[in-house]
Amino acid sequence: MLGLGTSQSPAMHSGDRASFDPPPDFRRRFHFLRKSLRAALSAQLVGGEVAQPVARESSAVEPTRETHLKVMDDKPDPGTPSENSEVLFSFGVIADIQYADLEDGYNFQGNRRRYYRHSLLHLRSAIEHWNTEGSPPRCVLQLGDIIDGYNAQYQVSEKSLELVMNTFQMLKVPVHHTWGNHEFYNFSRNYLTNSKLNTKFLEDQIVHHPETVPSEDYYAYHFVPFPQFRFILLDAYDLSVLGVDQSSPKYQQCLKILKEHNPNSELNSPQGLSEPQFVQFNGGFSQEQLNWLNEVLTFSDTNQEKVVIVSHLPIYPEASDSVCLAWNYRDALAVIWSHKCVVCFFAGHTHDGGYSEDPFGVHHINLEGVIETAPDSQAFGTVYVYPDKMMLKGRGRVPDRIMNYKKENAFQF
Ligand SMILES: [Zn+2]
Repeated sequence: MLGLGTSQSPAMHSGDRASFDPPPDFRRRFHFLRKSLRAALSAQLVGGEVAQPVARESSAVEPTRETHLKVMDDKPDPGTPSENSEVLFSFGVIADIQYADLEDGYNFQGNRRRYYRHSLLHLRSAIEHWNTEGSPPRCVLQLGDIIDGYNAQYQVSEKSLELVMNTFQMLKVPVHHTWGNHEFYNFSRNYLTNSKLNTKFLEDQIVHHPETVPSEDYYAYHFVPFPQFRFILLDAYDLSVLGVDQSSPKYQQCLKILKEHNPNSELNSPQGLSEPQFVQFNGGFSQEQLNWLNEVLTFSDTNQEKVVIVSHLPIYPEASDSVCLAWNYRDALAVIWSHKCVVCFFAGHTHDGGYSEDPFGVHHINLEGVIETAPDSQAFGTVYVYPDKMMLKGRGRVPDRIMNYKKENAFQF
């Protein structure tokens, strides 16, 4: 993020549940769940549109049909994912590298040191780690803000991007690049579309399902790194004033949305806002993109797939600083909550990291940012995918997380 609002997130750094034992307040959570869904579905979208996804009541009561997957009884230690055959596959995650050829600095509040040069070394050591894993990851998810906005100020954006991309060339597996605010501080959307940061060529298409093909109007796609597991990369700056031609109708539309929610003369300031996420360094999802997401998730539900979603901006308040959320995060949640297939949602942007499991059993992970990671530490992770769960093995200041799949019977109400 730009440097505002990095107060300690209310993330759960302990108490991740290793199994799906209902917590004591389960019934209360269900009440919240119903309330949240109603609220989310009735919430007004930015731009005056109304959320359209269908509620999950009809699908929620279906029994699980995961007979093709062997359910494990043992619960391995998350700190030592074994190399045995129970791991189906793995993938790497890394966020907010924000490289710049600059001396160390501080964030806006001056309380977090930023290691602009060392971030490249952090990336290199992460890549060396992934390259030497006994069973290499299928892919790596880069969660956005790959170079810092300062590069634009010094007119070295292309040079810095090339340096970081040359480092990524060392990686032996595909990397999927997400776009964050710092991409748009350095480059226009048009430039990014034609750059190496556009990894849409790695997408998978679903034959005979044209509704699952994303529009060219936003940067989003889906792919299948392993059978029955679909990954969806979202464009959290689809609605944004960043990177858009200021003479375009879309810029005017997005500026109007932003100003309607933020009367401050400095649009990067959340001061006094009832919805503090409406700042210039954030963005949102268009209804068109959300409709597409809804179609892909419908396909995944029908085909009993498990889904991982990736976005630069987080969408769940309890896993994030409230200033860092996507403008219309409620609309994205409403779509996701109307399906049963989504296992987890990975985001960057906050730098501090955070985690929360929402009432629908979706795990929200905000990854700790490389840029604010001291040279003697690290900030990346590998997610090991099992038949019944995903396990994030964090490195350095990224904590381990266990993400059990939903027990769908638990959602009968
Ligand atoms: Zn960011």
